[in-house]
Amino acid sequence: MFMRVFVILPAAGLGTRMAPGQATPNAPKQFLALQGLPILVHSLRAFATVPRVTSIYVAVRKPEMSRMAALIAEHALSLRVQVVEGGDTRQQSVSQALKALPAQDEDIILVHDAVRPWIDPATIERTIEAVEQYGAAIVGLPAVDTIKQVERTARGAIVTATIPREYIVQAQTPQGFRAGVLRRAFASAESDGFDGTDEASVVERSGATVAVVMGSPANLKITHPGDLQLAEFYLQHRS
Ligand code: C5P
Repeated sequence: MFMRVFVILPAAGLGTRMAPGQATPNAPKQFLALQGLPILVHSLRAFATVPRVTSIYVAVRKPEMSRMAALIAEHALSLRVQVVEGGDTRQQSVSQALKALPAQDEDIILVHDAVRPWIDPATIERTIEAVEQYGAAIVGLPAVDTIKQVERTARGAIVTATIPREYIVQAQTPQGFRAGVLRRAFASAESDGFDGTDEASVVERSGATVAVVMGSPANLKITHPGDLQLAEFYLQHRS
């Protein structure tokens, strides 16, 4: 059976953790330049180079929809990329893209943070293969640091436990799912008022198995001041 692969790129965040002067509500971080191109264009290009990807839905805030459409045309991505309006939370942005795309239950949907520009096509392909096998899969990076559980107090954080790091994987993206699995999990989260920080947490609630595909430190999420320089470093290192 011919199975299609859709990609959702949530890109409607405000980037409030970036430094003043780097990202603002009028110039959110996903539009900041990295090697002369907006961060999210790097992310879009990575998925557009994967032959199995049928189409990509990028969710942006309403005021950015026309700028996004112009960027897509400028980079000759119009045949495979659609723009949808994002929401107030990441989950809402993904949900709105999910409602717009024409996937059948057996098709695959990958969700990728627009602000992880150095995702590589081989990892995307391995994620698709893992979804075919397990129904749901995320890219994850095994923890190298010892992980502490803490209690936040007025005087600072106090360690309450050490979590064996062999049990810890840091969740990256893409996160992929059979469309039926993702749609049912989102419907249930919406009716229960559950808001997750990633799609896997929404799907885990439904009891589905979620497999892990090896990630990379270069697949970083540009979040804090300094991450842009780190992203530049990884690019130089890669080329
Ligand atoms: O805020 P966070 O770092 O979790 O954002 C991860 C991704 O989700 C970013 O690409 C961001 O633009 C996107 N996002 C979104 N809609 C929101 C908030 C975040 O599409 N309301």
